Amino acid sequence: MTAKVVVLTGGVGGAKLVLGLAGVMAPADITAIVNTGDDFRHLGLHISPDIDTLLYTLSDKANKAQGWGREGESWAFLDALRSLGGEDWFLLGDGDMALHVLRSHRLAQGDRLSAITADFAKAWGIGLTVLPMSDDPVATCLDTDVGMLEFQRYFVERRCVPAVSRIRFEGSEAAVPAPGVLDAIGEAEAILIAPSNPYLSVDPVLAVPGMREALRDARAPVIAVSPIIGGKAVKGPTAKLMAELGITPDNDAIAAHYAGLLDGLVIDEGDAAPGNGIPVARTDTLMTTITDRRRVAQAALDLARAIGRR
Ligand code: GDP
Repeated sequence: MTAKVVVLTGGVGGAKLVLGLAGVMAPADITAIVNTGDDFRHLGLHISPDIDTLLYTLSDKANKAQGWGREGESWAFLDALRSLGGEDWFLLGDGDMALHVLRSHRLAQGDRLSAITADFAKAWGIGLTVLPMSDDPVATCLDTDVGMLEFQRYFVERRCVPAVSRIRFEGSEAAVPAPGVLDAIGEAEAILIAPSNPYLSVDPVLAVPGMREALRDARAPVIAVSPIIGGKAVKGPTAKLMAELGITPDNDAIAAHYAGLLDGLVIDEGDAAPGNGIPVARTDTLMTTITDRRRVAQAALDLARAIGRR
């Protein structure tokens, strides 16, 4: 029997779970629905950071130490750009550039982001389905103490230093789920929410009209892996952001954030379960090695199976 699984994901944290999942079940039965709120135009190119992280991770090209970009990258393009006075706050390696140039070229010719992503995944032998949440532009924008910042300006250029008061997903009202997204959710036996940033990586996916309804109507249980371990986020701005938004970084907050959607939560062994009584599975949720990633993925699948269809 094939049990199809959908995972909603951002970039680095999410890609760890998706890679683990591909190690414990048939990749052909996995659909990753990826945040594109971080997508932006830079130097005339369309850059999709979370999709790229997933493509690099799943084809074993990711720079694991760095946490973004490709392993063994060269920097001739960026050096030449710098010598001309070009903006160099967003680092673009030579191999990475090939992806952005080809994607931008094909988008300009009228191809959809979802079709281009599928072709890239196929070219690199990735056996699972990688779908952008939408083919339409959605831009994550943050109101901060230094004014409105688009996601990459906040995340990369300002290194998450500005205090955030509000997060918006511009264009989301007019976006539609990419082809295949709603069908994958409808056909799934388990729907996982990766331990990605709930506010910056998962919320943009949930902001696409039709997505919340599809998750609510799905026959499959929705299981999140908590991004919080011991009251802290493993990396990135999640905990800082929660503090700025007046939210205590714990599993109660994660359960409350996904309230109405969630059927179960995978939490770290040392952490308290949310007080709302939602079923939990406990494991060491820090995904350092491939064994960790598979264990966490398996824990999420086991919890989904234990809960069963809605
Ligand atoms: P993205 O949101 O998926 O693009 O990825 P990030 O790397 O920014 O991580 C987002 C969140 O995932 C962080 O706030 C972390 O708390 C969480 N995270 C990252 N790695 C792990 C992990 O190994 N285990 C768990 N439980 N959470 C993680």
